[in-house]
Amino acid sequence: MAELLFFSGTMDCGKSTLALQMDHNHKARGRRGVLFSSHDRAGESMISSRLGLQVPAVEVFPDTDFWVELTVRQTMGARIDYVICDEAQFYTVDQIDQLARVVDEMDIDVFGFGITSDFRTRLFPGSQRLIELADRVQVLQVEALCWCGKRATHNARTVDGVMVVEGDQMVVGDVDQPLDPDAATSAEEQGPGPGPAASGEGRGPVVGYETLCRRHHMRRQTARTSPSLYLNEMPLPFEPKQRESGRI
Ligand SMILES: [Zn+2]
Repeated sequence: MAELLFFSGTMDCGKSTLALQMDHNHKARGRRGVLFSSHDRAGESMISSRLGLQVPAVEVFPDTDFWVELTVRQTMGARIDYVICDEAQFYTVDQIDQLARVVDEMDIDVFGFGITSDFRTRLFPGSQRLIELADRVQVLQVEALCWCGKRATHNARTVDGVMVVEGDQMVVGDVDQPLDPDAATSAEEQGPGPGPAASGEGRGPVVGYETLCRRHHMRRQTARTSPSLYLNEMPLPFEPKQRESGRI
């Protein structure tokens, strides 16, 4: 019996790598699948892994109808045993409903991969719907780390290197690339509307992402702003001096 599975995690936790591995494993068993993605870091119609793998995928747009998409393929003679849905947090609630129907009525396995919550710690609609409907939700084992070394559980958005907690839910950017020109372009493409992504002058602000532990997300301490604070918290270089001066 087909299943709807949701593999969730933060950014940078290896979701796309697992999506491609999953595709490989099923293919190796002679099964046939269709790969979907939305706003992948490598561009449209692609699933790319941080480890360097890249595989073509069908781009999901807001008006994509999975039921129609898969029916048409089957009508044209394609056999479909499973569907891989990467970046599923960007899918609409309706699209997740369609995927559930695909599982139940077409008997096709659907493997969804997505980030659970956005930079404001709110659930993405697509991920929320997947959590509500999935037969099984699996939190990914490859854990992303905060700069402090703890498990990263939250996504932070930075604009020109400064952490923000307001703005449009969906602005494409990337982790580990604070000066990524593509991210800057994406921010510019948001147009003249409101929000920090569109408020810059000239080139527009650079949007980046970083995974943090909850403590540092709440304190808004990113790797860039933290090292000095972190050093200030270290007692050794300071305490003896203070004691000495106290004696004098
Ligand atoms: Zn931390």
